[in-house]
Amino acid sequence: MIPAAPNSITCMSFGSEMILLFGTEDQKQRYLRSVCQGAKIGAVAVTEPDAGSDVLNVSTKAVEQDGGYLINGSKMFISNGDIADFLLSRCGLTNPDAASKTARHSVIVIDGDSPGIERNKIHGKTGDQSHDTAEINFSNVWVPKENLIGEEGKGFECFMAFSTGPGPILLPRAWVWPRAPLEMALKHTRKRKVFGKPLSESELVQDENWQRCNMD
Ligand SMILES: Cc1cc2nc3c(=O)[nH]c(=O)nc-3n(C[C@H](O)[C@H](O)[C@H](O)COP(=O)(O)OP(=O)(O)OC[C@H]3O[C@@H](n4cnc5c(N)ncnc54)[C@H](O)[C@@H]3O)c2cc1C
Repeated sequence: MIPAAPNSITCMSFGSEMILLFGTEDQKQRYLRSVCQGAKIGAVAVTEPDAGSDVLNVSTKAVEQDGGYLINGSKMFISNGDIADFLLSRCGLTNPDAASKTARHSVIVIDGDSPGIERNKIHGKTGDQSHDTAEINFSNVWVPKENLIGEEGKGFECFMAFSTGPGPILLPRAWVWPRAPLEMALKHTRKRKVFGKPLSESELVQDENWQRCNMD
């Protein structure tokens, strides 16, 4: 089986690093305490349909309104997206025209039950089945100003702290994910008999690339 559990477990506290490092005491009490008690689940919503690796290109907008922010945009492939009690979202904020792209975004906590949020669970993944992944749409979602994490325009800095935080946990996962299906394929070719011999002895499967992959 391709291991999926590590992903589900490490995602339970997603985003907590940003609150811990940049959040106010009130935000820590409101969110971190419940995460530690196992009462709340967080999520980090950065990726968008048109911005994945290119994280500085996210275009979700958060415009100041009535003492808070009005948020509009879409997020994609969000771990825990369908079940999270709160989402730490990186939005294009009050300064989308800042000369430096790294000064345009801010991180805002959005409570999962805020009006205007639509979440759609993603079905049909080829792996990682135990792990909840969703697409999220924000349509005029209003959040109070006290939900801003750190300072306006410092979203990239916050996000980098998050990215490097769980790194040591995610690294073994990056090793296991491609290795597990390869091991499954090798095991199958050794066991499966075709034309009176194991499939692994067939010409194409004996290809140099396969030999190189043999991890015995
Ligand atoms: C199971 C799962 C859970 C996820 N959970 C979250 C989450 O919780 N929160 C969140 O915000 N996002 C999440 N993501 C999204 C993930 O962060 C993005 O998929 C990732 O950032 C890549 O973005 P993309 O899919 O748009 O690919 P793209 O950015 O379109 O990249 C496509 C391919 O091109 C490669 N590539 C990109 N740029 C370069 C370059 N300059 N040079 C060479 N190659 C390049 C990439 O490595 C990749 O292989 C999740 C994704 C998955 C599959």
